[in-house]
Amino acid sequence: MSRTLLAGGLVFDVHTGRRERADILIEDQTLLAVGGADEFATDPHATIVNIAGKTVLPGFSNNHVHVGWSGMGWDGSPTGILRDQALQDSDGINGIKAVANLRKSLKVGLTALRDLGMNNSAFDANEALKRGMVKGPRLFIAGKAIMCTGGHTWWCGRQADGPEGVRLAVREQVKAGADHIKIMASEHTVQYTPAELQAAADETHLLGKRITTHSTLPQSIRNVVNAGFDSIEHGGFADDDVLATIAERGIMVIPTLSPNVLQTERGPGRGMPEDVLAARHVRFAKNPPGAALIKMRQAGIKFAFGTDAGSPCVPHDEILGEMRALLAHEVVTSPLELIRMLTINSAELRGDAEKLGSVEAGKLADLVVVDGDPLTDVEALGRVRHVFVAGEHLVVDGELHDWYTW
Ligand SMILES: [Zn+2]
Repeated sequence: MSRTLLAGGLVFDVHTGRRERADILIEDQTLLAVGGADEFATDPHATIVNIAGKTVLPGFSNNHVHVGWSGMGWDGSPTGILRDQALQDSDGINGIKAVANLRKSLKVGLTALRDLGMNNSAFDANEALKRGMVKGPRLFIAGKAIMCTGGHTWWCGRQADGPEGVRLAVREQVKAGADHIKIMASEHTVQYTPAELQAAADETHLLGKRITTHSTLPQSIRNVVNAGFDSIEHGGFADDDVLATIAERGIMVIPTLSPNVLQTERGPGRGMPEDVLAARHVRFAKNPPGAALIKMRQAGIKFAFGTDAGSPCVPHDEILGEMRALLAHEVVTSPLELIRMLTINSAELRGDAEKLGSVEAGKLADLVVVDGDPLTDVEALGRVRHVFVAGEHLVVDGELHDWYTW
């Protein structure tokens, strides 16, 4: 049995939005107690970590990542565009990228990642974590994303057609260890028929899992809602009756502003083709980033945090850019909403809020300690001093600690 006492901190309550002086006693993987000032200061069995004046939050989650993608630039960059990475890089290289990305994620306070598919790298990264070969955030994986023949990102997913074909593809991912299923339901047009989407959702639910989707067009969003999907990635414009249904059923949306915002900012310096950039500006002139998401917020739809990490110009340790963009584009209206997206909403999205997502006795000890008050200064969320995953102290005074276990 090991005990750690976090002494002198201010604990952030994601339910009330208040920060209060409390010490935290961790026993093995669990938060044994969250107490009043100095309540456990005399525990002789505990290793004491002094965090006087710092803020303790539940560990952060990034709910839209691709651990096998680098998040670098376009052609000409050391790793090439996504398609090149997917088709040309060996399994070994993909595995090494995944490990590097786990390490980067940990350092910015991420204690949970929800991977949304890219070859087999997430399966391998998960296996390495389970074997204790590497340390990192908890990893929840989709395995390969499922799309129709030639569908969105077909070059790195599992192409499947027809209701029976889609059912088989779902079963394969679950057999291989998927925690959830990702369906590509649109690209420039709607992809997949209502019957195929229904088969995907039914099969996923039959196997006790949750199903999410890349659906960015109004008709596609209507189709996945009708089929009973549990969440929607990126968000997009949808008809009012569909928005109302999404809110009513508690279907969560994971906005990902980072690709649009960071690529437009940095892409030109990193090999982004001029025509792609020009098309982006035309699109933003019509609808600024976040316009569809503001409508979703106004309809009462709940959001969870995600960056699409691994996309060009979106590295896995860059989560502050998404936070700033969510506030700047008014997708969220307060830092408290943002903190809930990072923590308790993420746990609800995965269905494990009884164990994770808030700092409460009895929950698992996934914690982030930051410098400053994130309610008055969102940049404080970037000043990560300590990170605990299941009670293990993996970031100490801002540095990765005891990371090599083999
Ligand atoms: Zn993605």
